[in-house]
Amino acid sequence: MITRPLPEGRETLAHDVRAAIRDVADFPKPGVVFKDITPVLSDASLFARVTESQAAAATAMHVTHVVAIESRGFIFGAPVAQALGVPFVPVRKPGKLPHRRVREEYTLEYGTDALEMHEDALGVGARVLVVDDVLATGGTAAATRRLVERAGGVVVAFSFVIDLTFLHGRQLLVGASVDAIVEY
Ligand code: AMP
Repeated sequence: MITRPLPEGRETLAHDVRAAIRDVADFPKPGVVFKDITPVLSDASLFARVTESQAAAATAMHVTHVVAIESRGFIFGAPVAQALGVPFVPVRKPGKLPHRRVREEYTLEYGTDALEMHEDALGVGARVLVVDDVLATGGTAAATRRLVERAGGVVVAFSFVIDLTFLHGRQLLVGASVDAIVEY
């Protein structure tokens, strides 16, 4: 693992990320305020500071794999994995991964959805950092943890750019460290 010091104070970073995030009302459906992270990606320096901070927060956890959730989780998870010097593992929507898969369903407001991961992606004893852009109700992240466990690993930490704390997603993720750069 590549260890590196915290690049800067979290408060400065949180301030700058909060200023960059764009709220889009009624997307993808009425009543939802969508947190658009694309302005963070447009700022090369800010994007790098975010993923360096995510990686720095995980350096002491002896993470062996970064598991990221399709699709915005990939954007942040890949540089975090590279910074930590560990494998990157994608979790995808059904029907996207070509090899043998494990699958977990989770409940949405209306109906269910599912996520898949290659069954041989981790191995017994894997210590996993799960990365996604937004923690909302926690259903997606909790389903990802079940995938990790079915593949023989354990989730030691979750890393998000944004935590919508009023939806109490952390309640579904007890037992692991949960890190977010910005909370609403
Ligand atoms: P949840 O399973 O409810 O925690 O939802 C998390 C997933 O939905 C993440 O992959 C997010 O990218 C996405 N998501 C949920 N709510 C929002 C939101 N308000 N803005 C942007 N993305 C969201």
